[in-house]
Amino acid sequence: MPIVYLGMGSNLGLREEQLKRAIKELGSLPHTEVLDLSSLYETEPVGVKDQPWFLNLVSVLRTAIPPQELLFRLKKIESQMGRGKGGRWGPRIIDLDILLYDDLVFSSPRLVIPHPRMHQRSFVLLPLTEMAPQWRHPILGKGIWQLAEGLSRGEVVRWRGKLYA
Ligand code: ADP
Ligand code: MG
Repeated sequence: MPIVYLGMGSNLGLREEQLKRAIKELGSLPHTEVLDLSSLYETEPVGVKDQPWFLNLVSVLRTAIPPQELLFRLKKIESQMGRGKGGRWGPRIIDLDILLYDDLVFSSPRLVIPHPRMHQRSFVLLPLTEMAPQWRHPILGKGIWQLAEGLSRGEVVRWRGKLYA
């Protein structure tokens, strides 16, 4: 079954609790198992600065759900958890992004894999150094550390230990 890396983030309300709830929802998707979780990283907001800091992590799933259906399911979890519109860069209860789906390279108007902005975000690259240190970006041809070092003046990211200590 395919291995999928998800980027998860929350910056509203009880952030740890929202992330835990989302992880529980992911684990109850059909033919899906949550294999591993990175540490938590507390992150300065990108774009719209006037909003609370995020808690981010990367989860690793094994799932039989195909990519487009998985995106649909993630959006469903987001809306069930009460994520409103709030604008693209605005505050959110929960954000679930597909970073990697096996070795798939895919692009449609609604879904791009690998995630189109992952290589610009230290709050994605840092947890990925834990979870997939040997991964290379199939289009950019660079490894995780190379991508992370390539970020000029990124947002501040603080290591916050494990969600489940
Ligand atoms: P972002 O996660 O970039 O802050 P949103 O969560 O609002 O913003 O997502 C915006 C759109 O990005 C989604 O509606 C979705 O269709 C699209 N998208 C494209 N590729 C991906 C991906 N790999 N994972 C999640 N969403 C994606
Ligand atoms: Mg998203």
